[in-house]
Amino acid sequence: MTDGTWLNARNDLLRRIGRNNFVTWIEPMRLCGIDAGVARFEVPTVFFGDWVSRNYSDQIRSDLNRLGETVDRIEFTVSPAIRGDTATRASSGAARARPRAVPEEDLRGAALDARFTFDRFVVGKPNELAHAAARRVAEGGPVTFNPLFLYGGVGLGKTHLMHAIANELQVRTPELRVLYLSAEQFMYRFVQALRERQIMGFKELFRSVDVLMVDDVQFIAGKDSTQEEFFHTFNALVDQNKQIVISADRAPGEIKDLEDRIKSRLQCGLVVDLHPTDYELRLGILQQKAEFYRQQYRGLVISDGVLEFLAHRITTNVRVLEGALTRLFAFASLVGREITLELAQDCLADILRASDRKITIEEIQRRVAEHYNVRLSDLIGPKRVRTIARPRQIAMYLAKQLTPRSLPEIGRRFGGRDHTTIMHGVRRIEELMTTDSQMADDLQLLRRQLEG
Ligand code: ADP
Ligand code: MG
Repeated sequence: MTDGTWLNARNDLLRRIGRNNFVTWIEPMRLCGIDAGVARFEVPTVFFGDWVSRNYSDQIRSDLNRLGETVDRIEFTVSPAIRGDTATRASSGAARARPRAVPEEDLRGAALDARFTFDRFVVGKPNELAHAAARRVAEGGPVTFNPLFLYGGVGLGKTHLMHAIANELQVRTPELRVLYLSAEQFMYRFVQALRERQIMGFKELFRSVDVLMVDDVQFIAGKDSTQEEFFHTFNALVDQNKQIVISADRAPGEIKDLEDRIKSRLQCGLVVDLHPTDYELRLGILQQKAEFYRQQYRGLVISDGVLEFLAHRITTNVRVLEGALTRLFAFASLVGREITLELAQDCLADILRASDRKITIEEIQRRVAEHYNVRLSDLIGPKRVRTIARPRQIAMYLAKQLTPRSLPEIGRRFGGRDHTTIMHGVRRIEELMTTDSQMADDLQLLRRQLEG
């Protein structure tokens, strides 16, 4: 067993489970050795070991095996010498400028990514509102909306914007205490505080920050005592007029198993969504990145049309788009060739295949709800008024047309409706399409949007 193997395995894990999870759970673990099929790790607490074992042990095992180790089982030893939270704090120097009861070391969230700045955030139609709101918060000054709630699908820039706010605040107002962390880290620290009977310290810490940012808040849904504590923290900060920024993968009202009072609190401020990227935004992001790479890999030439091709074909999310370009430049510089369309097709065959549009029913529902300005929950729910029932039938029709799902499956995704209801809806739209030109236009527009 070499240290290199674990390093490689860690890199894979980082890619697969994301930076936040990685920093919270994988980074603190120390590999002691692999012996007779058992990989032994040191972890800071029993809870930590349980968590990793439940959530990541299969991945760790398969990564190690793939890298040539033989691992059947993973075991954890608690070693208090390891800190559960190795990340650096968000606002360095803050506590020094303004001493408080809470020790400086405790004021740390997840590490901020220095590359996630406003400068590097490409603004387009799908994200302009979210960007403007984030900018507004980053200016500091009196709190005008609280919280700022950013939501949208995977890889659309929520984390980037939150880091950009924190990075900017740190430059403008170094004495501000800015705490950024994922909802998972919030829970982890809360549970740790409970275990160590330090709940007062926990409360004091979270109530002492000036700006609190919690990423991926949907994570705490269904975790009752964590939700409860989050709610109290949230209220205490709002009462003190401290800025809160929250992100989630969907709107507050759509988060399942989140208490109603929390939902309504989250809706009190400004709720903005990041829409799926459009072609122009994707191209803009690629151009920015390509410019950066052109400086890094001097002399590398990229043919006309390659970026346009990628922006057109890779519509899944920005993370995939960036990964594709990174690989393309690395590959071209290795083989010392110009980046042509052919090279791109060869080098990115797997990504291109994987991102051949797979439209989901959820996506259709979201688009249709947005288009007709009805709530997603109404679209799926039982209401029968025409203004909701018609868009619902349109969504059913599109689900039948654009996905390979069967009628019963579609029925399940529409609040458990019977397949005959779906069939009726689809037929109704087929009829109307021929007589109602407005509807035909709507359908065409929606279809085009969905097909990216
Ligand atoms: P999310 O948190 O919404 O899942 P991230 O903020 O982690 O997404 O973004 C994924 C990747 O895409 C990051 O590397 C980020 O820098 C990049 N990205 C997303 N949106 C943009 C944008 N508008 N301009 C530049 N980079 C972006
Ligand atoms: Mg994120």
